Amino acid sequence: MGQIKVLDRNMVNMIAAGEVIERPASVVKELTENSLDAGAARITVSVEDGGRKSITVTDNGEGVSADDLANAFESHSTSKIKAAKDLAEISSLGFRGEALASIASVARVKAVTRQKDSAQAAKVEIDCGERSPVAPCSGDYGTTVTVSDIFYKIPARRKFLRTANTEMGHITEQFIRIALPREGVDMTLEHNGRQRFRIHSDYSCTQRIKTFFGEEIAGKLMAAQRNQDSLSSLTRPSDKLAIYALIGKPELSRTSGKYQYVFLNGRFIRDKFISHAVREAYRSIIEPGRYPVLFLFITLPFKEYDVNVHPTKMEVRFYNSNLVHSEVLSCLREKLLASDLNPAADFSGVGGEKKGFDEVTQAIQDFFDKYKTSSSQRGFNFSSLKSSPHKPGVEVPFKTPSPDGEVFERQDYSRLSEQQGFIQIHDSYIVLQREDGFEVIDQHALHERIIYEKLRRRVSEGRLESQKLLVPETVMVSDIQSSLIEQFADLFEKLGIEIVSFGPDTCAVQSFPSLLSSAPVGEFVADLLGILEEKGTTGDNLLDDILNMAACKAAVKAGDSLTEQEIQGLLDERKKLELPERCPHGRPTTIKFTLKELEKQFKRT
Ligand code: ADP
Ligand code: MG
Repeated sequence: MGQIKVLDRNMVNMIAAGEVIERPASVVKELTENSLDAGAARITVSVEDGGRKSITVTDNGEGVSADDLANAFESHSTSKIKAAKDLAEISSLGFRGEALASIASVARVKAVTRQKDSAQAAKVEIDCGERSPVAPCSGDYGTTVTVSDIFYKIPARRKFLRTANTEMGHITEQFIRIALPREGVDMTLEHNGRQRFRIHSDYSCTQRIKTFFGEEIAGKLMAAQRNQDSLSSLTRPSDKLAIYALIGKPELSRTSGKYQYVFLNGRFIRDKFISHAVREAYRSIIEPGRYPVLFLFITLPFKEYDVNVHPTKMEVRFYNSNLVHSEVLSCLREKLLASDLNPAADFSGVGGEKKGFDEVTQAIQDFFDKYKTSSSQRGFNFSSLKSSPHKPGVEVPFKTPSPDGEVFERQDYSRLSEQQGFIQIHDSYIVLQREDGFEVIDQHALHERIIYEKLRRRVSEGRLESQKLLVPETVMVSDIQSSLIEQFADLFEKLGIEIVSFGPDTCAVQSFPSLLSSAPVGEFVADLLGILEEKGTTGDNLLDDILNMAACKAAVKAGDSLTEQEIQGLLDERKKLELPERCPHGRPTTIKFTLKELEKQFKRT
């Protein structure tokens, strides 16, 4: 007797559900996509307990006839394709005919639906694959599907559901991905009876972004387009590839690519060619390792790509990926190169207080005065010539400037050779004299290493010492981020960051680690949340990534003019380092030059 059996229908559906229905958010995705495919102009998503208890999606779309209703829940049943040729040109969001069957195999489902020409509505209920007969009932035009107690008969999967907050974060993300490009559709998301988002049908793309991500992001986007005309839609293709892009200015960059939303004919996708084009477009415009924020709406004739490559349809196969790549790249790059990307001057002083205008004017005046006295120097900023005050014999410049500014002519450089003198050049590097030559130190890289090692030591000993902020700093957070703050409460505590919820979508940082006092609090927390969003679940090198980022944020930057004492401090700290030669990212902190090498270069030997 053979061992191989054909699985029964419900088993097949449960297996399919494993691919399509990962968590409550997948249900929201599939149901709202069905509503859109049914031509709905209004969709309400109502969630209880993060979808763990129930999810109800109501639409005013075309509905299902009573005759078809039972079939809709059979696997591979769809009204969207009829013949093989239809697969080559899929214009609907769904087409595989497995979503409803999959959902109904792992939860309790109730569907009520009514078509325009029907005298009454019809309903059907399915409990983990057990279907009741279709029955008439009262109901409005359109369809309402309620999915309750997801995975209740599959404890192994129910166990993997996270807290209501976390699940709600995923649902919100799905809702955003569906609603962003859908101009003309009115969409509402509710949680436990409270409205989370309401997107009116006449909201523009930018208004939608503002509703979801706040003015913070929406206000720093620039629009770019290609082959767009006034009739162009964000979800329906014309006869050629067209792009509408809202692209973030460089200062809006993030630590992960999470804020890169790419839509193809209204479908949210992830695509490596497009990501590559985005990276290329921003090359040398933002720091390596940072990701721009951007919203790309691409329309392309349906026959030019295949969506039937992945069960969740998040990946597609372009037949001409080179064209897509080059069009995205030039659209973005041209816009970026044509824009003035310098961030606006920020006159806010320490602690977020605005400095008086006079103070700023005075600072600018001082700068030019200082510049004048050193302007006689050629290409070398002697005004920041530094030397150790403890070593005799090294003259400190600026002590006796002569009126004509030729203050440095009298500097006796030969005497520098007798001891360890140092100078800062280009406000970025420290040149340190040694007996056998000299070293060039990257001030940022060295300081990063110092802070990183200190942080690591303190964290492994317990927690970072923190200090209360005089004025709590508020940060905008998404639902997902606020659930991460809850989920990683221990980590925040270890880092010495006290953060509390402060009204909708806002948190307030009340305490901050003293070691990082020079890091910008808001930016730091945004980056920290970025890392958690990206890596939180995998946990790979999580703490190390955070400490790296922290060290980078708190370290002096290239371009910071340092005082003698500050440089001396860095050099003293350097002696205590475990690994002084490398910054935490693995780049060198120091390059050494020996006299021997110099002699060789000058052909003295
Ligand atoms: P697919 O969307 O891939 O066709 P589904 O299992 O999601 O498969 O849905 C099966 C069928 O049920 C759809 O093809 C459609 O005819 C019908 N249907 C599902 N949801 C709705 C809805 N909200 N309004 C109208 N028809 C729907
Ligand atoms: Mg579907």
